[in-house]
Amino acid sequence: MYRLFLIIFLLIVLYFLLRQMFRGVTGPIRDERSISADSAERDKEQDQMVEDPVCHTFVPRRIAVIEQMGGQTYFFCSKECAVTFRSQHPV
Ligand SMILES: [Zn+2]
Repeated sequence: MYRLFLIIFLLIVLYFLLRQMFRGVTGPIRDERSISADSAERDKEQDQMVEDPVCHTFVPRRIAVIEQMGGQTYFFCSKECAVTFRSQHPV
């Protein structure tokens, strides 16, 4: 009986080791993304394209520079555009 537990424990350790190795090959990001439906939903939102009001470039939300101004949220392609927008729209 005791040996059985030991074998199960070793199998679990082996499983985690193999999984970690597998992660190293496929990349950790993709694996993390599929953990829950909630994070997948948030990911979809992060992939949404948003327009920069300064240079009118569309950028994915995840890399956009986010600025809150006067209760409104604006997305910019770069910090420079955010600064430009700020100087054009003094609060
Ligand atoms: Zn821009």
